[in-house]
Amino acid sequence: MASLVLVSNRLPVTVRRGKQGAELVRSSGGLVSALEPVHARGESLWVGNLGGEPTRHVERELTASRYVNVPVSAAETRDYYLGYSNSALWPLFHYFQERCVFSRSQFATYRRVNERFAEHVARHSDGATRVWVHDYQLMLVPGFLRKLLPAARIGFFLHTPFPSSEIFRLLPEREEILDGLLGADVIGVHTYDYARHLVNTLRRVKGVAIREGLVELDGRNVQIATQPVGIDLKKVKGAAYTQAAESRVNELRGMLAGRRMILGVDRLDYTKALPLKLEAFRKFLERSTRWRHRVIFIQIAVPSRTEIPSYRHQKEEVDRLVGEINGAYGTPGRTPIHYVFRSISPTELGALYRAADVAFVAPVRDGMNLVAKEYVACQPEDAGVLVLSEFAGAAPELREAIRVNPYDIEGTAEALEKALEMPVAERQRRMTAMLRRIELSDVHAWERRALRSLEAPRPAVLGAPAMYEPEALADKLRPALRNSRAPLFMFDYDGTLREFVAVPSDARPTAAIMRLLEAAASMSKARVFLISGRDRDSMTSWFGELGIGLVAEHGAFRRNPGTGAEWVASPGLADARWKDEVRPILVEYAQRTPGASVEEKTGSLAWHFRNAEQDLALWQARELNSHLEEYLVGAPIEVMQGAKIVEVRQQGVTKGAAFKAVVEELGPFDFILALGDDTTDEDTFAALPESAHSVHVGEGSSRASASLASPAAVRGFIRSLLSGPAATQAAG
Ligand code: UDP
Repeated sequence: MASLVLVSNRLPVTVRRGKQGAELVRSSGGLVSALEPVHARGESLWVGNLGGEPTRHVERELTASRYVNVPVSAAETRDYYLGYSNSALWPLFHYFQERCVFSRSQFATYRRVNERFAEHVARHSDGATRVWVHDYQLMLVPGFLRKLLPAARIGFFLHTPFPSSEIFRLLPEREEILDGLLGADVIGVHTYDYARHLVNTLRRVKGVAIREGLVELDGRNVQIATQPVGIDLKKVKGAAYTQAAESRVNELRGMLAGRRMILGVDRLDYTKALPLKLEAFRKFLERSTRWRHRVIFIQIAVPSRTEIPSYRHQKEEVDRLVGEINGAYGTPGRTPIHYVFRSISPTELGALYRAADVAFVAPVRDGMNLVAKEYVACQPEDAGVLVLSEFAGAAPELREAIRVNPYDIEGTAEALEKALEMPVAERQRRMTAMLRRIELSDVHAWERRALRSLEAPRPAVLGAPAMYEPEALADKLRPALRNSRAPLFMFDYDGTLREFVAVPSDARPTAAIMRLLEAAASMSKARVFLISGRDRDSMTSWFGELGIGLVAEHGAFRRNPGTGAEWVASPGLADARWKDEVRPILVEYAQRTPGASVEEKTGSLAWHFRNAEQDLALWQARELNSHLEEYLVGAPIEVMQGAKIVEVRQQGVTKGAAFKAVVEELGPFDFILALGDDTTDEDTFAALPESAHSVHVGEGSSRASASLASPAAVRGFIRSLLSGPAATQAAG
C-alpha cells in the first residue's frame, strides 16, 4: 500500500499517438508544476486520468512512474470535465456567474467519476495512507473516500479561488459539494481570503460550528488551512540559466534592438482577461508617446480548453484586438505586440523572464498565479518590474509588485509606464523583498506544510468540564483541604483571579484579591504560587510583599515563597538564537493583522492580538502557529497559544514544567489545586497528578476536572473554600 497518494483530475502525462505508436508526453500547468516535485521524491502514487487509452507498453511506463490511470470515457469527459467542472465550477469560482451552465445530468456524471476516483485511490490505500486530493474537479472525492476508508488521513487542496458565499450559494449542488469537501481532515486554499469565504459558506450553507478555522463535526474536526503554493525555485532558475537560455536571451536582446520588453504569459482563459490587458496596452501606447516606439509587448497565450465554445470566442476576440492595435500603432518592421498562441519550452520561457523589463500579470481572478512568482525568481541583477493584478492569489505575498485593478484600464496603462520608468535601485529593492518571500515559501515548504498538517494529530475533541456554582465546588473540595497537611495552590492571574482589561498594565490586583492570596498563604503549611505569563518586574511589584511563590513568563522564571527570594531562570533558557529567526515572522503577521503587536520578553517572543478584530486574529494566530511549526522544525522551541496571545519559547519552558519543579523542590503535597483559563494553563493541568483538583475558568473545553464561570466566581469559590460555608455571604 502507498504511504502517500496524490490525486488529480489529469496525470502529469498524456498519451498521444506518435510515429512509434502511443507515447507519453508531459502536460503543463500550475498544478503539475506544484505536484511534480512531491512525486519526484519517490514515495507516492499519483492517481489521475491519462487523457486517452493506454496500450500495454504505456501501461508499463505508467506503472514504472507510479501513475495509476482512472479511466474516463469521452462522453464522461464532456459532462464531467468540460461540463460540470469547467462550465459550472470554474466560472463560478472565478466570479463569472453569467458564464455558468448548471446541469443536473452533468453533475450526475461528475459524481460518478468522483466516486470512481475514490475507488481507485482506496485500492491502493489503507488506514495509514495519506491521501492528498487536488482541485475543483474532485471535490466529492474526500466524501466518498471517507466512507471507503474511515481511518485514512485525507487532505484536499483547492487550486482555484474559493468565492464569497454569495457567489457559492448560486450552485444548485452547493450542499453536496460541501459535504464532499468535509470528508477531508484538512482543506487547504491559497489565501486567507479564500479560507474566510469557505468558512462563511460552511456556516451559512451547512450551519456547522467553526472555531479558529476548525470545523466541528460529530466526533471529528476538519481544519481549514491557508497554504499558498510556491514554485520549484531551483528548477525554474535552472531552466532560465542554461547555456541554451543564455543564447536565447542574447537573441532576444538583438531582436529588441534597444527597445524595452513587456511580457505576458497566460493560459488563454477568460479569467486571465487578455482583452483587458490588450486594451490597457493600447491605452499605454496612446498616452505614452515617449514609449510608443520603444516598447514591445510579447504575449504568450497557451491554448486551453479549446473544446469549450466560450474559450474559442475569447481567442477570436484576442486575435481581433491584436490585429487592431498592431494595425494602428505598428510601423513597417515594428510591430508593438508579438502574440504567440502556443505553449513554449521551459528554456524559452526562462529566457523571456530574464529578458523582460516588465512582467504584465493581470488576471481578473486567479487562484494563485505561478507566472508572477517565476518571473521574480528569474530576475537578473538589474531586476525588472512585476505589474500584478490585485485579484491574483499571489498578490498578498508579492506586495512589492506594482498593483493594478485590471478593470481600470487607464490605471493599468499608467502602471506600465511607471514600471518602465522605475529606477534600478527601487527595482532591486522590490525584487529582493519578493524573492526572499518566494524562497521561504517555495513549493517544498508548501508541500511539507500541507503534509504535516495531515499528519499532525487532530486537536483532541476535549470535552467541557462540568460548570459549578462557586459554593458547590467549594463544598466539594473543602473536606479534602481540611484533611490536608501540605496543600499547594497554583493560581493563574489574568482571566482567572482578575478580569481581563484592555490595557494589561491596568489589571492591578484589587484589595479583595490580595486578601484572598494572603488568606491562602496564611493556612498552616500551605504553599501558594501565582503562575502567570507576566514578566518578573510586574509580578514582583504587585505580589513581592506577599511572600507567596511566583512564576513569571509562563514558566521561564520562578521565585520561591519568601519575601527575599531570588528569581531563578528555567534551565531551558540558555540558548536564544532561535529568536532571530522567529522575530521577523511574528512581525510579518503583526503587519497583516491590524491591532496585533509583537512583544519581546526575556525568555520568549509573544504575538498579541487582544486589540485586533477577533475573527481575523484568531485565524491568523492559528496560521502563525502552523507557519512557525513548519519553519522551525527541529528547533528547540515551543509555540503556545494563550488567551489573545501566541507565545514562542524554548522547549520545556512551560507552566507545567514550572509546576513539576515546584513539587520537586518543595513537595510532596497532599492537596493540589490549580486554576487557569487558557491553553498555557492546560500545560499545568496536564502535569498534575491524578489526585489533584483542576479548575478551568470560562466556557469551553479543557482537561480540568471542573469549570467556574468567571474570575468573580473564582474569587467566591476561593473565599468559600478557605473560610467555610458561612463566609460566602461576603463574596464580591
Ligand atoms: N507554463 C507552461 N508552458 C507554457 C507557459 C507556461 O508549462 O508554455 C507554465 C508556467 O511556467 C506556470 C504554469 O504553466 O508554471 C502556469 O501557472 P499559473 O498559476 O500562472 O496559471 P494556471 O495556468 O495554473 O491558471
